[in-house]
Amino acid sequence: MVDMAENIKMTRQRRVILDILDRCETHPSADELYDLVRKKLPKISLATVYRNLDALSEAGLVRKLEFSGCQKRFDKTVLDHYHIRCQACGKIEDLPSEPGRGIERKFLPQTEFEITGHNLELIGICPDCRRKVR
Ligand SMILES: [Zn+2]
Ligand SMILES: [Zn+2]
Repeated sequence: MVDMAENIKMTRQRRVILDILDRCETHPSADELYDLVRKKLPKISLATVYRNLDALSEAGLVRKLEFSGCQKRFDKTVLDHYHIRCQACGKIEDLPSEPGRGIERKFLPQTEFEITGHNLELIGICPDCRRKVR
């Protein structure tokens, strides 16, 4: 990952964005990040935040998460990992277990595709929302 970082110019804006994302556990959307970045760089525009996020994800420094029917979210963890999403509040957390390749082998006989990876998202209700229901 460090090698990749050299292919991208580390502007102050990008450093601030990375720094903020690094301290977020919630996989924020671009809009949420924009609100946080603005506290440090009051003159930055939403379009600039979007552009920088695209550049950072192309450079492999952040991971873009796309789920059907949801806004794009951004992830500071670029290594493969699984997510669990709260169906009530939309919060996304990382799961500690490492993705297994077994699941890809299982599907191999069922497709002519060359399988290069997979995404797995578990869905549930987070502890905060569970407390609210009771
Ligand atoms: Zn929740
Ligand atoms: Zn994640």
